[in-house]
Amino acid sequence: MSYHPIARTDAIPLRVTPFSNTSQIVTWLTPGHGKIATVIKGACRPKQDASGQYDIGYRCELLFYEYAHNGLHNFRECAALDNRRACHGDWRRTAAISYLCRLAADATPDGAHIPELYHLTDTAITILAQTPPPHDTLLLWFELRLLDLLGLSPRLRHCCTCKTHLPPGTGARFSAELGGALCAQCTPQRQDAATMTLAPDVLGLLQRWQRSRSFAPLRAIAIDPATRTALCQSLRHFLARHLETAPECRAVALQMVNMNLHPADSPTPQQ
Ligand SMILES: [Zn+2]
Repeated sequence: MSYHPIARTDAIPLRVTPFSNTSQIVTWLTPGHGKIATVIKGACRPKQDASGQYDIGYRCELLFYEYAHNGLHNFRECAALDNRRACHGDWRRTAAISYLCRLAADATPDGAHIPELYHLTDTAITILAQTPPPHDTLLLWFELRLLDLLGLSPRLRHCCTCKTHLPPGTGARFSAELGGALCAQCTPQRQDAATMTLAPDVLGLLQRWQRSRSFAPLRAIAIDPATRTALCQSLRHFLARHLETAPECRAVALQMVNMNLHPADSPTPQQ
C-alpha cells in the first residue's frame, strides 16, 4: 500500500452531506488548505470515533490524507476544539451559524487559500456564540468583510462609474449591478440600472463597517428598523449580483436573529 502524507489543521465544517447510507462528505474551511472536502466513512454509525466531534460551525482539529481523489480527501480523525456549546438548542444562533457557513462555503473559490477567510468565519461564529443577541449587524459586517477579502467590495467612497469622491454626510444612489454607490452627476444617466437610494446614515454605516476589521467597535451602534432594512436590502442586491449563494438561507437567518428577544436572551446591563 502506498504511503500518503497526513495533514493536521484547524478546520470549520461548513457543509455536511450524506454520501451512501453510512458515510458523509464534510466540506471544511481551513487556514492553510482553503476549502477541502473529506469523506467520513461510517459517519452515521453510532460508534464512529468522530461522532459528536464535528458539526456545522465547530472549530475542529482535523487530520486528513493530503492525497485527493476526485477532489475528495480521505479523513483520518478530528476532535472538537470549540463545539459552540452556547448555540446548542438555540435556533436563532443555529440559523445564523448555518448562514455564515453557507455563505463561506459558496463564496470560497475551490483551490483558493485565503487564511483571513478562515479567521473571519471563526471570529464571527465565536462572537455569535459568546455575545448576547441581537446578531443582525454581525451578519451584515461579516458579509462586507467577506466581500472585501474576496476582492469584491462594493465601492462606497467613490462613484463606481466616474470615480469622484463621495463627500461624507451625503447619501447616494446604489447600484449592485454597477458595483456600488453613484454620485449625483452619474445618477440621472443610470436610471436604466436598478438602483436604490442610500440615505447618508446608511451609506456612512456601510462605509464604516467595510473598513472595520474588528466587530467590537461596531457592536454598540444602535440601528433603527428603516436603516436596518436599507442595509439588508443593499447588501442582498449586491450579494445576489456578485456571488452565487442562497438568498433564502440569508433571509431566514436575518429574520430569526431579529425576532423579538426572549427576556432571558436580552443583553444584561454592564455591572
Ligand atoms: Zn459619478
